[in-house]
Order: sequence, then structure tokens, then C-alpha cells
Amino acid sequence: MSTTFTMLKPDAIANGYMGAILDHIIKAGFKIKAMKYTRLTAERAGEFYAVHKERPFYNDLVKYMSSGPIVAAILEKDNAVEDFRKTIGATDPAKAEAGTIRKLYAKSIEANAVHGSDSDENAAIESSFFFSMTERF
Ligand code: ATP
Ligand code: MG
Repeated sequence: MSTTFTMLKPDAIANGYMGAILDHIIKAGFKIKAMKYTRLTAERAGEFYAVHKERPFYNDLVKYMSSGPIVAAILEKDNAVEDFRKTIGATDPAKAEAGTIRKLYAKSIEANAVHGSDSDENAAIESSFFFSMTERF
């Protein structure tokens, strides 16, 4: 078993897809190990996406990610990182495969409904960004 980290982004919550996306994740075989409904400050959003600091979309991304509540969660499954990336689909929902979360629930490349870690190393870093060890089940 391995774990990955996800966020249901502000557009997903604002558009009323929180329940549907969590249901999709659970039905895809992921077990929720930790979860919280919270909101990022612009400073914390900037820190979370610091790897994209030099990209042209960084300032807008920080503004968007701190614009409303999110759900942060740690998910467990075998091959969790890779399988979850398949479950969410391509970054741009227009290019995401049919049946993926981004195809179903996202409208733009920025407001793309969900985040999924891109490596085991980043899954661990991102999980620790939101959760202490005693918050994991
Ligand atoms: P995430 O890290 O959120 O799971 P990802 O790994 O598919 O997404 P990244 O390249 O890491 O994509 O980009 C991080 C986030 O930045 C994207 O999910 C999206 O919200 C935003 N983003 C990426 N590319 C663009 C772009 N060209 N224009 C606007 N926003 C973008
Ligand atoms: Mg990424």
C-alpha cells in the first residue's frame, strides 16, 4: 500500500462537486487516511505551489487557490500516486480522458477541480504540509 495527497480545489467546492468527487475517489478504490475542510491563505498557497514560482500563471494560481475553501486529504491504495493521476486525468480538462474527475468536473486548465501529487516524495511533503501524524488513520 502507498499513499498520495489530494486537494479538492476552490472551484470544485464552489460548484457543489465536493460529495460527487469524494464518492468518485472512494469508488475508484482509494481509502481516506486523513481529511480536512479548510482554506489556504495566499501565503500558504504560494508556499504549496512554490515549484511553479517562475511560471507565468503563478500569481493567478495563488489567488485562485486561496479564493475559497478546499478539501485536503491523504489517500491510500496500491500504486496510489500513479493511479490517482489516472483517476483525475490531464491538467487541462479539455485534454483529460472521458470519465476522469477533471473531465467530469473541471472547466479550465487553472480551475481544474483537483490536485494529485506527482511522486511519492511530493506526496509525503504535501501530506505533512496539511496533516500531523496524529491526524492520520
Ligand atoms: P496539480 O499539481 O494541481 O495536481 P498538475 O500536476 O496536473 O496539477 P502542474 O503543472 O503541477 O499540473 O500545475 C499546477 C496547477 O497550476 C494546475 O493544476 C493548474 O491549476 C495550474 N496551471 C498549470 N498550468 C497552467 C496554465 N498553463 N495556465 C493556468 N494555470 C495552470
Ligand atoms: Mg502538479
